[in-house]
Amino acid sequence: MRFNLSFLLCLALFAAEPPKSGIETSGFDMTCKPCDDFWRFVNGTFLDKNPIPARYPNWGVMSIVSEANKERSRTILEAAMANKRAAAGSDTRKIGDLYGSCMDESAINARGIQPLKPELDRVAAVKSVKDLVGLFLALERYNPFQGPIGIVGAPDAKNSKVVVAYVGNGGLSLPDRDYYMKDDPRSVEIRKQFVQHVTKMFELMGESPTAAANAAESILKLETSFADASMTNVMRRDPYARYNKMDLAGLTKLAPTYDWKTLLTTLKISEKETLIVSEPKFISLFEKQLNEFPLENWKTWLRWRLLNNGASELSEPFADEDFHFNKTILTGAKEQLPRWQICSNIVDAQLGDALGKAFTEKHFPPAAKKRMLELVDNMRASLAEELQAADWLAPETRKNALAKLNAFKAKIGYPDRWRDYSAISISPKNYYENVQGTVLDRRLYQLAKIGKPVDRNDWGMTPPTVNAYYSPLQNEIAFPAGILQPPMFDMSADDAANYGAIGAVIGHEMGHGFDDQGSKFDAEGNLKNWWTPEDRTKFEQRANCVIDQFNTIDVGDGLHHTGKLVVGEALGDLGGLKLAYQAYHRTLRGKPAPPVLDGYTTDQRFFIAFAHVWGNQYREEAKRLRLNTDPHPLAKFRANGTVMNMPEFHKAFGCKQGDAMVRPAEKQCKLW
Ligand SMILES: [Zn+2]
Repeated sequence: MRFNLSFLLCLALFAAEPPKSGIETSGFDMTCKPCDDFWRFVNGTFLDKNPIPARYPNWGVMSIVSEANKERSRTILEAAMANKRAAAGSDTRKIGDLYGSCMDESAINARGIQPLKPELDRVAAVKSVKDLVGLFLALERYNPFQGPIGIVGAPDAKNSKVVVAYVGNGGLSLPDRDYYMKDDPRSVEIRKQFVQHVTKMFELMGESPTAAANAAESILKLETSFADASMTNVMRRDPYARYNKMDLAGLTKLAPTYDWKTLLTTLKISEKETLIVSEPKFISLFEKQLNEFPLENWKTWLRWRLLNNGASELSEPFADEDFHFNKTILTGAKEQLPRWQICSNIVDAQLGDALGKAFTEKHFPPAAKKRMLELVDNMRASLAEELQAADWLAPETRKNALAKLNAFKAKIGYPDRWRDYSAISISPKNYYENVQGTVLDRRLYQLAKIGKPVDRNDWGMTPPTVNAYYSPLQNEIAFPAGILQPPMFDMSADDAANYGAIGAVIGHEMGHGFDDQGSKFDAEGNLKNWWTPEDRTKFEQRANCVIDQFNTIDVGDGLHHTGKLVVGEALGDLGGLKLAYQAYHRTLRGKPAPPVLDGYTTDQRFFIAFAHVWGNQYREEAKRLRLNTDPHPLAKFRANGTVMNMPEFHKAFGCKQGDAMVRPAEKQCKLW
């Protein structure tokens, strides 16, 4: 009885106090009308007051959450480093020692390029194409893309319960093949800067300026031939084009000079294993170049690859030059991250589960997981309703879409089972070797999966990450603990803001299951058509609407997105926001109308919370890099480009035809 009484008292107390709205009105730009530029209205003052810090290429709401997570990781890592009582071999000792060895800059600087010496000596010893191939094979065991090709394990796209070997290609030091192929002034300038950068790196290794400049030119030449034989980033979005099943004999026929048989033995992959080649054309080019490109130039390229790969773990001159090109030139960042942050990032990348376990124990309460599962369930129910009501789908397609939805697995916060790092040894010194050891351990862990059933425990992101993902091959959505924080997710805030922010993120990831790529995979994660031809045509018309929209939005300086590159993400945003809106309204059924809070109605707060997540600005260089390589539209257009298509938004803010935030009715896009 007493318990009941206190329970009622609690409810009464809550009822007396209006709920927190979850929106932050102080960041609004009241001089900008919501129907003119909604993103600016919601974020204008916030962005003006939060300029991009010198160390970053872009900055915004999610960056601030990410920065706070990094501070939390820092506290954990500094305590681990100082904890002299942590048992040898324990995860605490390992993360503390890796972090400590990274923080010891004087030891790193004193070693100069010496940590790379054993690998450079192996390159120097190469006397023939056979030796070169042998060295590629040996490096492949450590890192799949040191050479131009690499083998990685992943679920078979046509039999997704089993991990098979994918033969992929790389070999490019610039961010994308287009950087080598395009002739616009910016691309030409970047190639010039790249040659200067490689020259400088070779000079730092002790080469004469002339030899270094020649090396840089020959590297650009080889990589340009790789780029020419590689698919564009739009072509790569077609999973059928990248699925070319072969056996060992087929691969050997394609590139006889490369010793595929020994490669499989080195990687402990059975010769009978299914091999899926992403780009056979590239493998043929590789074969040609192995026999035609001068051996000495191949050796130069390989030295470059080793140096480029290890530069950020070497002494200051190398790390600084690496930063200058890869960050300042390509992204516009002006300063290095503080050392603690570089080191915290390294521990997150290399021993992610050990840091993640400590992170979630402190910063991810079980109640948050429970609330997220409720949100996901409600979104799922909402999508089921949408699909049931989608009269443009034939019954057969609808049945398959529902089966896909029902099979969605949601991962929240962190893995059920943490990785075992007992095979890794970390010393408080020797930073470079520590990183190599963790890279090798992860590589062997991944390779050992090939030929076995898929283990669904594994995650594609670490717990402190402020991000989320959908995996078409496993038909699953995942939300690391890092993103489940205000303003994306706030346990104490009113539902409108939570659905507008994290709800739209959940909906976005679900939407990927039905985007240009995800829609080609079925409920089991298999690449298999489950649409009737008529429905597929109608789906493609919907996708084309978004492609046209993003091809034509002027993002400033006359630049545009590539519609076919961003269509998957834009469809996820559009479908996700609609779904979150429906799911939110589902929670209101049979209840009294919710109150106006902070001067805004529930629907207004929903859209405000959505647009606030995309409160992010870019440096000019970063903006161009993103337009060229990233399937995600720029933040501003993830907000505005999405609400332009939503009548629910237009109604909430009273926007009319002719306003910038209203696409003409006949051009409004929808996923469902
Ligand atoms: Zn996405």
